[in-house]
Amino acid sequence: MALLVQKYGGTSVGSIERIEAVAEKIIGYKNQGNDLVVVVSAMSGETNRLTALAREINPSIRGRELDVLLTTGEQVTIALLSIALEKRGCPAISYTGGQVRILTDDAFNKARILSIDSDNIHRDLKAGRVVVVAGFQGVDEKGNITTLGRGGSDTTGVALAAALKADECQIFTDVDGVYTTDPRVVADARRLEKITFEEMLEMASLGSKVLQIRSVEFAGKYEVPLRVLSSFADGPGTLITSETREVEPVEQAVISGIAFNRDEAQLTINGVPDTPGVAYQILGPISDANIEVDMIVQNVGADGTTDFTFTVNRGDYETALGSLKKTAQDLGAREASGNNKIVKISIVGVGMRSHAGIASRMFRILADEGINILMISTSEIKISVVVEEKYLELGVRALHDGFGLAESAS
Ligand code: ADP
Ligand code: ASP
Ligand code: MG
Repeated sequence: MALLVQKYGGTSVGSIERIEAVAEKIIGYKNQGNDLVVVVSAMSGETNRLTALAREINPSIRGRELDVLLTTGEQVTIALLSIALEKRGCPAISYTGGQVRILTDDAFNKARILSIDSDNIHRDLKAGRVVVVAGFQGVDEKGNITTLGRGGSDTTGVALAAALKADECQIFTDVDGVYTTDPRVVADARRLEKITFEEMLEMASLGSKVLQIRSVEFAGKYEVPLRVLSSFADGPGTLITSETREVEPVEQAVISGIAFNRDEAQLTINGVPDTPGVAYQILGPISDANIEVDMIVQNVGADGTTDFTFTVNRGDYETALGSLKKTAQDLGAREASGNNKIVKISIVGVGMRSHAGIASRMFRILADEGINILMISTSEIKISVVVEEKYLELGVRALHDGFGLAESAS
């Protein structure tokens, strides 16, 4: 008998039929003798719908009241799923995040989980109930409702699995595992049997939204056995593991996957004086406006002045450009400009540590397709490039083919 924490995402509970199908699935696991804690997301599209309502009133809405609103989506699905389980004679009980005291900090809209009170859950499990918990939400010390950032139900699942010392955390979604790249973009993307936490963390950070970044961080830190599976079909899914992957001495095995992020915009300031403190003067106002900067490139031109380029989330583009234009005036720069039609494509693999020439191979594959690289950044196990948005699909497919990801073994 095992204790399983299962998380079902938005599409998996997107209609009454889907919720009833999930109930059947859960009962199947229960009948095999497992104890089950089930985390659910809101029905697909619901969090977006609620956000849009709030934005009709205030386009830049953030903070406490937004969280009060957004958490209602998950409250609907916990109740509906519990009703579906009980209709089938399976005892079930639903809890909001606050009710199982998923205690978070008070950073509304992107709170972090601090602790979970698992006593009630253990009591319910002992009484034979399936415990259904609302994903994506908690309460702060003062009892204010908080949310964990988009995709946060994954983190609720992993955090519950860690707190309850579950045998496995199973993330059920609309694909049957983690693929070499998004299977919706590359038709012959291949499901991975296993991927390391380290690689999964890079993939998630670089835009593969199959798992929320924090859920992978959490699972790695607390060594939660984590698996991504389909809620629509049976199968082994993908195990996220702390094992170090055996890297075969063939080049194909060096890259595990390709991630991409459409949510990017690029800003440039040209002709700033090449003096100490200039980077701070440019990026200080950006960070003061709570805007996260991702890639940064600085180079000194023939005339001795500096050109400085960086990327931000696309949603922050207008604000960042406004701030940069003001900085350009203050610094006497030649020009501040931007481009919000760019994307980031990254290749990820622990095998890069032991293999040379991966970057040049990546650049050659892109060059062969006539794709111009606007920015490059590298770390030990990833290489990212920024390219124009229109090249996204072409670039990802070319790299997927060029690194032999479709046919190589996992
Ligand atoms: P859920 O609503 O279940 O949380 P998400 O939409 O958040 O589901 O995540 C699943 C989606 O992630 C898939 O439909 C797929 O398009 C996308 N995805 C992106 N990269 C990958 C990848 N490497 N492997 C699998 N799915 C991926
Ligand atoms: N419903 C939330 C969202 O759409 C949380 C989640 O689904 O994980 O982001
Ligand atoms: Mg998700």
